[in-house]
Amino acid sequence: MRSSFTRISFLFIVALALFAMGAISGCKSTEPESTEPEAAATECATCQVSMKEGGWCDDCGAGYVSGEKIACEGCYGLASGGKTEWCEACNVGYVSGKKTECQGCVTAAKNGGTCPAHGG
Ligand SMILES: [Zn+2]
Ligand SMILES: [Zn+2]
Ligand SMILES: [Zn+2]
Repeated sequence: MRSSFTRISFLFIVALALFAMGAISGCKSTEPESTEPEAAATECATCQVSMKEGGWCDDCGAGYVSGEKIACEGCYGLASGGKTEWCEACNVGYVSGKKTECQGCVTAAKNGGTCPAHGG
């Protein structure tokens, strides 16, 4: 029966075509999407201005001082205001707005003393 053979071949080709289409569309879906948090942050208009001119973005909860991103509002205030204070939440401090990881330096700068670790 030649007709049944043709029908099976036809079904086989259709199945192959569907498989190929599925493989192509499956390949496309693995491409990285543009809705990642990192990409969204840079697309924020406020952040783009803040990156250049400095400023805090309430929407993203991030600030920029001299192009450096600061994700803590307290730290952003210290850095942008040129203040001398220790941030317990981030475990970093600022001396006249300059970031330091030494609490002794911050305490010394505030009290007019010297840092036991770094002297000065
Ligand atoms: Zn933003
Ligand atoms: Zn902080
Ligand atoms: Zn120090």
